[in-house]
Amino acid sequence: MLDFKNFYMKIEMVDLKKQHSKIKTEINAAVLKVIEDANFINGPEVKLFAEKLTHYFNGAYVVPCANGTDALQIAMMALDLKAGDEVIIPAFTYVATAEVIGLLNLKPVMIDVDENNFNISISEIRKAITEKTKAIVPVHLYGQTANMEEIMKIAKEFNLYVIEDNAQAIGAEYIYMDNTKKQAGTIGDIGCTSFFPSKNLGCYGDGGAIYTNDKSLAEKIKMIANHGQEVKYVHKYIGVNSRLDTIQAAILNIKLDHLNEYINARQKAAKIYDHLLSNIKEIQIPYRNQYSTHVFHQYTIKIKGNKRDELKKHLESIGIPAMIYYPVPLNEQEAYQKIGKISGSLTNTIELCKSVLSLPMHTELIQEEQEFICNSIREFFIK
Ligand SMILES: *Cc1c(COP(=O)(O)O)cnc(C)c1O
Repeated sequence: MLDFKNFYMKIEMVDLKKQHSKIKTEINAAVLKVIEDANFINGPEVKLFAEKLTHYFNGAYVVPCANGTDALQIAMMALDLKAGDEVIIPAFTYVATAEVIGLLNLKPVMIDVDENNFNISISEIRKAITEKTKAIVPVHLYGQTANMEEIMKIAKEFNLYVIEDNAQAIGAEYIYMDNTKKQAGTIGDIGCTSFFPSKNLGCYGDGGAIYTNDKSLAEKIKMIANHGQEVKYVHKYIGVNSRLDTIQAAILNIKLDHLNEYINARQKAAKIYDHLLSNIKEIQIPYRNQYSTHVFHQYTIKIKGNKRDELKKHLESIGIPAMIYYPVPLNEQEAYQKIGKISGSLTNTIELCKSVLSLPMHTELIQEEQEFICNSIREFFIK
């Protein structure tokens, strides 16, 4: 046993410094090269990164952009969604999913999530469809995918687009009934990712990407991300200025090579948590889908009996960070109450906002830290 007093103050929700220290030499050289080459915008590193990610995604066309929120917005612009069109989203997600829908004057239709995997509820999607519905945005929350086979079936039946918000699940694999697998984000019409530093593949600032298997759609997306420009000074579409910085691409080229290893580290840490928390009856450990691997962007437990906030406070008082993703559902946010629509009951969403707690989860977590965290949780419930 380690002497916890000596290190517990250092437990981080996400430890980016330690992760960086392991690839520092390579990163420093790559960043310096971009600076010396002075190809800051759309330098060769950006093209290389798009190619590398295409390879990782088994061939999907990739358009890098400035952040994950822009990725979602560009995706919706590329699909020509019109003001008033309805887009079905889970009410239990990060605000970005709804925000871009609002910005484009579309109507977010907020529905409930599954009580086990916290992803968009399939039965609620069916109930929410109207003649105005144009798209569904499944959010692969915490690192495992929504039920994509069912979602694609519904999309086909009602002629809807599917935009996967894959900000939290890059590298997760969807497993079909026949056991074939596909990368999360490459199943719907368009996938969107964020390279925000704390995401599973994070850069050293903001970054994002949009991807699709449809070549002509990819070309349109590429234009929209660059002022709708077909060739210089010829603007075919109304676009945005959303580019991945060359410096960030250079960093991502190095980190993408480590992504699978990072995923393994998270999965290993998740297993240790599962084991250490298994016999605390007030805690429900993360559910695993049959149809998806889990890349554990978050390790999120459910606390039974209304003790979540008290537990969080207790953990923080002894130096253990813990976060609530998300404390307030979209349907209770003033901005989205005005423009959005609720379909069905949001029982699970409301319950989850009161009961979920995400524990420290990153590639550098060590077993002794996890033991300290889990022992502290156990002690809290005993006292
Ligand atoms: C992080 C995140 C985004 C937004 O990504 P940014 O790069 O921060 O703009 C969108 N959706 C979800 C679910 C996210 O977790």
